[in-house]
Amino acid sequence: MGKTIDVMSLYPKDMNIYGDSGNVLTIRRRLELYGYEPVIHQYNQGDDWPDHVDLILGGGGQDSGQSKIIDDFFKRADLIRSLAFHGTPMLMICGMYQLFGEYFETVEGSRLEGIGVIGAYTIGKDVRMIGNLVEHSDDFGDIIGYENHSGQTFLREGTSPLGSVDEEGRGNNGEDFTEGARFNNVIGTYMHGSLLPKNPLIADFLIRNAVERRYGELNDGRLATDAQTPDQAAELARLDEVAAKA
Ligand code: GLN
Repeated sequence: MGKTIDVMSLYPKDMNIYGDSGNVLTIRRRLELYGYEPVIHQYNQGDDWPDHVDLILGGGGQDSGQSKIIDDFFKRADLIRSLAFHGTPMLMICGMYQLFGEYFETVEGSRLEGIGVIGAYTIGKDVRMIGNLVEHSDDFGDIIGYENHSGQTFLREGTSPLGSVDEEGRGNNGEDFTEGARFNNVIGTYMHGSLLPKNPLIADFLIRNAVERRYGELNDGRLATDAQTPDQAAELARLDEVAAKA
């Protein structure tokens, strides 16, 4: 029996734009290539929550998509907060990033509460921040992607950004050069792209935390299991090379 990893795609029907589903495909593929057995759970409004979740991925969406999922999201808020607090790795892009913060005030002035995992709040503006986004982070080096949002996110004091926008793009708010945010093993970011195919270090950060939480510390630090074949190792190396050229 191989080592299973349960991955949840959060609200793929309503919160999944600009290729964010590529993040789910990347996690699944890399898990397979390391020799794990990924199980993907698509969680939409009203669905049953699976018995086990090792890693959660959420995407961006229009303001209307955010309004659609908000009631269901709040039914799951305590559970998600508890998972985040205990170290479950999560990646939340754009619209879901905003809802992981404290609140999102839309450009029309209505207010969507967030679940407060991330110490940040977002104010909708009538100018959109659109274009390529390049940021630098200490943990992942340069991160590349694409942003498209009207919400300006401001981090509370003590909240760490994912990186700093020192080359191209606007980031959290176009004012303070921060981009994204981190809490425990949760990453929130405006990076679409999809993010993970182009930034495999972030994919492996999520995978490593998922694997270690489920199966214990990797003794030699290697993500690959004994089940990994040489062909799979070669394919991973090829994917990383493609990403390095992106
Ligand atoms: N509706 C949000 C905004 O425009 C999120 C957009 C997105 O997820 N790309 O700020």
